[in-house]
Formats: sequence, C-alpha cells, structure tokens
Amino acid sequence: MTALYVLGSGSRGNCCAVESEGATVLIDAGFSPKEIERRAEATGLALGGVGAIVLTHEHGDHARGAGRLARRLGVPVLTAPGTWTRLGLRLRHAEHRALGLCARVEIGPFRVTACPTSHDAAEPLALAVECADGTRVGVAYDLGRPTTAVRYLLRELTAIVLEANHDDVLLRTSSYPPVVQRRIAGSTGHLSNRAAAQLLAEVHHPGLGVVVLAHLSRQCNTAEDARATVGPALHRAGFAGALHVAEQDEPLGPIAVVAAAGAQLRLAL
Ligand SMILES: [Zn+2]
Ligand SMILES: [Zn+2]
Repeated sequence: MTALYVLGSGSRGNCCAVESEGATVLIDAGFSPKEIERRAEATGLALGGVGAIVLTHEHGDHARGAGRLARRLGVPVLTAPGTWTRLGLRLRHAEHRALGLCARVEIGPFRVTACPTSHDAAEPLALAVECADGTRVGVAYDLGRPTTAVRYLLRELTAIVLEANHDDVLLRTSSYPPVVQRRIAGSTGHLSNRAAAQLLAEVHHPGLGVVVLAHLSRQCNTAEDARATVGPALHRAGFAGALHVAEQDEPLGPIAVVAAAGAQLRLAL
C-alpha cells in the first residue's frame, strides 16, 4: 500500500512524504531536520526508509533543511539544475540528481517526473511520484497560475497535493501592502482557492481518490474557506474520494493512496 504524509504546509515550511513498499521519498524539506524528524515520528513515518529528497524550488519554506537532512540520511537530492545552482553551498555535501521535463528519476520503487511551474524562483517544479503499485501522487504548490504543463502532469493521479493559498477577498482586504498583494495574486505568485477549485475540476477523473489542499495563507485563508470553495467544485466534477486540508503546525497522515471507491467498482465491472 502507498501512503501520503504532509508533515506540514504553509509559508513557514513544507514537507511531504510518499511511502510505498517500505521505501519513502521526501518532497521538500522546509523545516529543520530536527523538526522533520519530530513530525515524522508523530505520524509513525520511519525516515530510515527515505531514498531521496526531492525539492520543488529553493525558497526557504521548501528547502531550509534539505542539505543537512540529506547529509544526515545519506541520500541524494533531486532538483532542477537551476534550483541546485541557486542553493549552491547549502547542498555542497549532497549528491545531486537532475530532475526536469526531460529528466525523470527512478528511486527504489518510485519514478519521479516533473514539469516547470510559474513561480518567482530559479527553476521551480511540480512533481508526480509513480509507485510500484501503479498509484501516482502529485505535488503542486507555489503556482502563480496553472500552466498547460501542470495540467498535463496532474492528469490521472491517484492523489494530489495542491496549493489553495488564499481567498481572493481575504487577500484584497488583508493588511498586506498592495505590492505584496499583487505578488501573491500575480502569475508567478500563489494559487487562490478559486483557481485551485477550477484546476481540480479540470484534472478530475474517476481514479482520483485523495486531494490535499496545501500552502494555505495564515492571513488570507482558512481551512473552512478553502474547503467551502474547492469541495463543491470537486463534488460537481464527480469526486468521490477524500478531501483533506494540510496545516502548518500539525502533520497529516498516513493517508492511504487509493482510487475513489466508485472508480474501483467501475474498474471491477
Ligand atoms: Zn512556498
Ligand atoms: Zn516559493
């Protein structure tokens, strides 16, 4: 069985894990190694099985602990070449494996594929992890807008971790200065609840069993608002799986990565 963990998500740190057949791949390490270990232990995730750390981009809330954790675990770091260059000295002790549109990487029972995203970083990526049991987990956050490449990557997944960063109205009425509001809402910033709902409705298919809304803004969103916007859109699209909302301070998981019950039934007929 494949399990998904979101050890935390938000502007103060992001870290997810996919576990399958005793092996684990970490996606982002935006907390200190000690904090990642504490959160992993709280969910029962054994970091001894980690075979690689995959980074979406170099921002601190995604890469803060990557170098030290890779060294401690003795595992390679998978990033786009531009991300690796930007992180420079901080990853000097780690082995690099290049990831990108033309570079898929196999790590144990996982095959990791990626595509570029629209975000104000060196070479940011959205990721899909295919497991030996055929399930596929996608992680896409820090998206200014959903590009065609991201839509393509997110098709036919079993589980999606997707950014639902802000509510449009809460952002407009927030205490953020206009320049910050424009950066967040801009095409290289972050995805709103409404945009996340539209994207999920587009990429929905009967096999989608798990959706985790992630990277919620503390100032401009709430779990209730994100659910209230995304839930009905998913429902209208025919989603029969489980909808979760990741938190900044509390780890989530293990979540069983399985197709929605209706899809399993249809496949069996
Ligand atoms: Zn971020
Ligand atoms: Zn970022």
